Amino acid sequence: MTLLNVSNILNTSNTSNTLNVSNLSVELAQSILDTEIDPNTQKPFSVHKAVRNLLVDGTTVSVDVALAYPAHSQLGLLRKQLHLAFKTVGFETILINLFSKIQTHSVQRGVKVLPNVKNIIAIASGKGGVGKSTTAVNVALALAAEGACVGLLDADIYGPSQIMMLGITTKPDSIDGKTMQPLQAHGLQVMSIGSMVDPETPMVWRGPMVTQALEQMLGQTNWTDLDYLIVDMPPGTGDIQLTLSQKVPVTGAVIVTTPQDIALLDARKGLKMFEKVGIPILGIVENMALHVCSECGHTEHIFGSGGGERMATQYKVSYLGGLPLDARLRADTDAGIPTVVADSASDLTQLYLSIARKIAVAVADKARDFSAIMPIITVSKDS
Ligand code: ADP
Repeated sequence: MTLLNVSNILNTSNTSNTLNVSNLSVELAQSILDTEIDPNTQKPFSVHKAVRNLLVDGTTVSVDVALAYPAHSQLGLLRKQLHLAFKTVGFETILINLFSKIQTHSVQRGVKVLPNVKNIIAIASGKGGVGKSTTAVNVALALAAEGACVGLLDADIYGPSQIMMLGITTKPDSIDGKTMQPLQAHGLQVMSIGSMVDPETPMVWRGPMVTQALEQMLGQTNWTDLDYLIVDMPPGTGDIQLTLSQKVPVTGAVIVTTPQDIALLDARKGLKMFEKVGIPILGIVENMALHVCSECGHTEHIFGSGGGERMATQYKVSYLGGLPLDARLRADTDAGIPTVVADSASDLTQLYLSIARKIAVAVADKARDFSAIMPIITVSKDS
């Protein structure tokens, strides 16, 4: 990793290989944090005012570094990286307090951030059946596995599948008769219209009823201290989706598509819809990108290849990653235990963890929202 400015700060007259301990200063330690690159963000560790309490005493350095994304699986590696960088310039006792601190980021104009929900992430697709709900639930669980407090709102009102995918059999409780307690599953706080209606009865609601129901589920659920609320959006780019995009305070949207041209065409529409309402696209997830035969391991691009990446390049958005067409993903969600929980050490889980991390890093890059900590100024007439 880079140690760009460090040589300027080290005493360069010291030509021997021994390091001059008297040069160990706060400036030198700061320069390490300013030049060492976090491989997850591709930015120095000191970005976003992440460094606090940097102290140097002789050959001892101690520092607090707050990562802006959940990184449970990364902490060991990142700590090792910083430790090595400090050691290389001569520090001997290195005390690094590395932790995640997720902030609230701004949303589209005209809507307010919800109390108790720092960031809402919409998971959308241009059409149904591309694996949007499977992606939403596994990404939510991956963020939780990385240490974040996560909620999942099933807004796919015409095909609410999250209840089944999470193995939820209870209905939400209400303590005060006005608000609802979120359901709990695998560490997630969950709300879904699927838990309130008869699964056998088709939903024949018109658009305004749908948006009203969703606004209620969003606003009248007692979400508790969520870092992220993942919203599994209804598929498509019609009126319902547009109204939702204008009413729900969304930090960013993720588009799920298959590599097939027709799905991509629909995904493009979804992408444009979010652009229209001023919601940033965090990236594209390509689902069913590749089929791996469970018998012989032969791989085949059933729906074509590279479409998601091409679309990402064309629209200048990030390609977050691809998932293979794999029977385990279907079987796990059918059994109510999505793969990230059912097989946390699997290759598939690693893919979801990587996608979730990229989403969280993209959120962390957005402008902060300070409305919760700003004083409210009221102007009153002098009596
Ligand atoms: P959508 O929300 O886009 O309608 P779903 O997530 O409900 O799509 O997925 C539709 C079906 O495809 C489900 O039965 C799901 O288990 C299955 N599925 C989704 N992604 C994959 C995948 N990558 N491999 C295998 N099956 C998948």
